[in-house]
Amino acid sequence: MSIRFIPAIRAPEDDERPVLCFVFRRRELLVTVDHQIPDVSVLDESGLDSVRSQYLGSLDDTHCHSVELPPDAPAPDGMVFRDLRALYGQLDESLHAVAGRAVQIVEWDRTHQFCGVCGKQTELSKTDRSRGCPDCKIPQYPRVSPAMIVTVERGNEILLARSPHFPPGIYSCMAGFVEPGESAEQAVEREVLEESGIHVKDIRYFASQPWPFPNSLMLGFTAQYASGEIVLEDEEIEDARWFHADDMPNFFPGRMSISQWLIHDFLDRKRSK
Ligand SMILES: [Zn+2]
Repeated sequence: MSIRFIPAIRAPEDDERPVLCFVFRRRELLVTVDHQIPDVSVLDESGLDSVRSQYLGSLDDTHCHSVELPPDAPAPDGMVFRDLRALYGQLDESLHAVAGRAVQIVEWDRTHQFCGVCGKQTELSKTDRSRGCPDCKIPQYPRVSPAMIVTVERGNEILLARSPHFPPGIYSCMAGFVEPGESAEQAVEREVLEESGIHVKDIRYFASQPWPFPNSLMLGFTAQYASGEIVLEDEEIEDARWFHADDMPNFFPGRMSISQWLIHDFLDRKRSK
């Protein structure tokens, strides 16, 4: 997302700019049937019972708030609850990005109401996006989990794998979470080795993408084949293979996720013109 969105924890006072409400029932976003984000009047007009609300920041000339509803809240007339994944390409891209922030802040607020050490009710910080225990003073921030994703290249070939959870025939980049104490590059080396038995070198940063399912920051890399043969021992991987740029398997369609950006970047560089 560009700098059109400016995050903040409190709305400026005496600011009359319009307000958009990112309203969630668990992880589902409330949108109109034609996929618009409702303005603040939705709460009054629909009699929706907000559990908690947070100021998120401003998008251009609009203020953005998140609102959490009870898990059994009905959708008002003319509106529906939708999973954020289903709204990719349906919702304006900037609004979808704000919704991705919003769902993580709603989930953090909902699940950090009590101190994990002494059990006391936590309080919202006035200075940053955290909740803290009045006794233990331990701040609890929204959790962001770094994960890496990588394309491994060998000349005009790319190493792709498939998980048993993928639709039939689909292959994608290898990916995994960064472990405590590990650099992203070390995670790349480890995950590729674990998932395929292949050693990599020349690991280069590509791009990153926030991925709110549930709270990852995907760090994209490219790497070159160093040594080894494909060995499948990881239960999360059903198959891993080298594919030539001119003879690719099915992969997830579209350009929504960083895995697709990585694969298309490889194809743009390697496919016969
Ligand atoms: Zn405490």
